[in-house]
Amino acid sequence: MQDIVWPIDECRVCGHDDWLDVVSFGSTPLAGNLLGDEDDAGGETLFPLDVVVCRRCWLMTLRHVIEPDVLFGHYRYVASDAGSIIQHMRKLVDLCVERIGLTDGDLVVEFGSNTGAHLELFRQAGPRVVGVDPARNLAGVANDRGVETIPAGFTAEVGQEIATRYGLARLVYGRQCFAHIPDIHEVLNGVSALLAPDGLFFVEVPYLVELLKNNQFDTIFHEHFSYFSLGSLCTLFESHGLRVVDVHTADVHGGSIVVFAAPAAADHEVRPAVAEMLAEERSQGIAEERTYREFADRTERVRAQIRELVRGVVADGKTVAGYGAPTKGSALLAACGLGHQEIRFCSDTTVLKQGRILPGSRIPIWSPEQAAGHVPDYYLLLAWNYAPEIIDNEKEFLENGGRFIVPIPEPRVISAESTL
Ligand SMILES: [Zn+2]
Repeated sequence: MQDIVWPIDECRVCGHDDWLDVVSFGSTPLAGNLLGDEDDAGGETLFPLDVVVCRRCWLMTLRHVIEPDVLFGHYRYVASDAGSIIQHMRKLVDLCVERIGLTDGDLVVEFGSNTGAHLELFRQAGPRVVGVDPARNLAGVANDRGVETIPAGFTAEVGQEIATRYGLARLVYGRQCFAHIPDIHEVLNGVSALLAPDGLFFVEVPYLVELLKNNQFDTIFHEHFSYFSLGSLCTLFESHGLRVVDVHTADVHGGSIVVFAAPAAADHEVRPAVAEMLAEERSQGIAEERTYREFADRTERVRAQIRELVRGVVADGKTVAGYGAPTKGSALLAACGLGHQEIRFCSDTTVLKQGRILPGSRIPIWSPEQAAGHVPDYYLLLAWNYAPEIIDNEKEFLENGGRFIVPIPEPRVISAESTL
């Protein structure tokens, strides 16, 4: 095991090793590693899932690192095409075009560009675009749609290669992938190699403050190494000669922040939102140990409440299925000790996931069409970040007496009579 999983010896951001233990989920299978069929089940390797926070820079992180080939060998994440996400992407493109004054000749480079959906929106706005994504199958889809995508992780070498071939980038862009990258310094070296002096570096990350406040323990799984606040991002970027110049909140993935950074030497105005959010983080106790202890206590309580609620419903003779099979849903079921005995199936629109089985809980993933023939009494809403959209789309299920269990931040039952 030691060659595929090991404890981190220093903080990924500040290099110290002054850890506070936050919460442990014991040993669990890789939440995103969906099994092919029943024959695969039983062989899941279990890895420790322990969360710590750095007492120096307050980066929250997993205590262990797993060999990337093991971790991402089967990773089937495909960017969501939910209407709200596409709308959000359009807003981000508009924000960047306006913020940087992007014009037709400019270059936009996205790392973790997935199937190129986002870059396509940038291209429609005028600039040239290049994507970088380590998943060959996703990079292939992007290239097929005409968005040039390099099948690689983003490193200093890749950054230099793009700069040589296409020139420096006015915008280097990374959405919702920073937390998945074990060596973020290498990514920032890539940014330094590629970013024009008047360019901006953009990242969108799930926001640690929202995770803590809203008990989002299910977003903690092996594929997510780092959980950032604006403060820890500032520390990280400063060590690479970048200064955070603007920050926005984004109502996606349970609450995220959108951060713009510029080369420190550039004469960029720092917007007041930066100091305001840093002050707000301090007032929320981001740099206090008790904040993390209280989160751990709430996590224990909510895990037990979800387990008891679902088991109680099943004991009453009702059927329960999962709505969506996101990686965090897989993590939530493992954290709550729920399995195939309680949850008959999970319904998911992602074709790549259908017909596969969740690791550990061994729950099969069905298409919505297959699920339509086996409508349960209750849907456990694993994709809770899309709750308003899903509940709006499933009025008929509710009107026919169906109920949703929304697990996060606290489990609650939604019926036709109740409002979200
Ligand atoms: Zn640190």
